[in-house]
Amino acid sequence: MRPFAFSRAADIPTAVAATAQPGTALIAGGTELVNWMKEGIVVPTRLVDINGLTELAAIDNDPRGLRIGALARMSEVAEHEAVRRDFPAIAEALERSASPQLRNMASMGGNLMQRTRCPYFRAETDLPCNKRRPGSGCAALEGEDRSMAIFGWSEHCLATHPSDVAVALAALDAVVHVRNTFGTRQVALVDFYQLPGNAPERDSVLHAGEIIAAIEVPASPLAKRSHYLKVRERASYEFALVSAAVALELDGKRIRQAHIALGGVAPKPWRLTRAEDALAGGSLETSALRTALEESFAEAKPRRHNGFKIELAKRAVIRALQTAGEKA
Ligand SMILES: Cc1cc2nc3c(=O)[nH]c(=O)nc-3n(C[C@H](O)[C@H](O)[C@H](O)COP(=O)(O)OP(=O)(O)OC[C@H]3O[C@@H](n4cnc5c(N)ncnc54)[C@H](O)[C@@H]3O)c2cc1C
Ligand code: SF4
Repeated sequence: MRPFAFSRAADIPTAVAATAQPGTALIAGGTELVNWMKEGIVVPTRLVDINGLTELAAIDNDPRGLRIGALARMSEVAEHEAVRRDFPAIAEALERSASPQLRNMASMGGNLMQRTRCPYFRAETDLPCNKRRPGSGCAALEGEDRSMAIFGWSEHCLATHPSDVAVALAALDAVVHVRNTFGTRQVALVDFYQLPGNAPERDSVLHAGEIIAAIEVPASPLAKRSHYLKVRERASYEFALVSAAVALELDGKRIRQAHIALGGVAPKPWRLTRAEDALAGGSLETSALRTALEESFAEAKPRRHNGFKIELAKRAVIRALQTAGEKA
């Protein structure tokens, strides 16, 4: 690790101004950033600690919805009574993330800003990786592609985004509040992340001179009947191979409205909007759900070793919808 300067932000404008300075990185829980520094993925010359900005740590709930401060810890959000009652998919996604110790340290803003777990991006030796070193190539194209994306990838990068809670937030129409020197701008969570195209080094639409202040989630009958299902290689302390966040509004036994977002299959949480349209008015029978999913999955473009994600994701969505349907 190289030497760096360290300071604490006294207020939000100081933190915002700091991110406009080249070589400066904000630190919240440090559970991602410190790893990147050890691995040489980033080499900041100055760290600015934002943990003293208590106004960014609140979790508020009112009839319009939920507001989660960027510095709220993952464990605090997962344990929050209103989150568990009115937005269960968020609590479930957080409880299936990382470990209890990490969740106590890690912030919600840091979670959204975590980077891909692609083994070439995280490698200790220099390997071609356009996300880490733009223009160097992509080792995954001819290498290990089992964990890679089936939607939204480009020939410059095949990686998936690893956040669990971002998938639940995408299904619930969450909005990210971004602070800059001019004030606050709001970005729908589904638009917060960028597809790789020919510039995979940029993960999100957050610019230098901007910080995440909060995440807002609208209250709705859908959110109350939401569920997060994570499929992984082992039962705990593992990233998703595939995950599904769903939210349902029922009219008797019929689906009035459904939201579906997938994780582990794309460079960003992937909403299945065609399937959502096809599900309206239908039943929760397995065959009806499977038919409604077909059009969305026709867009999938698997690589050599990850075609299994198509069937796995379909089954995850079907099970998640049926589980949500059984909720009181
Ligand atoms: C072993 C391990 C297992 C994990 N497993 C999972 C998992 O299963 N599921 C999952 O979803 N995640 C998982 N994670 C990721 C974990 O959730 C993140 O490391 C954590 O949420 C990052 O939050 P932090 O506060 O520690 O961020 P930091 O490390 O402090 O910061 C990370 C990045 O976010 C930036 N940042 C932080 N706050 C803000 C802000 N308010 N505005 C703008 N930028 C900001 C920092 O500058 C930095 O670039 C795992 C991590 C580890 C180490
Ligand atoms: S898939 Fe993306 S992150 Fe992985 S090696 Fe290729 S460019 Fe890098």
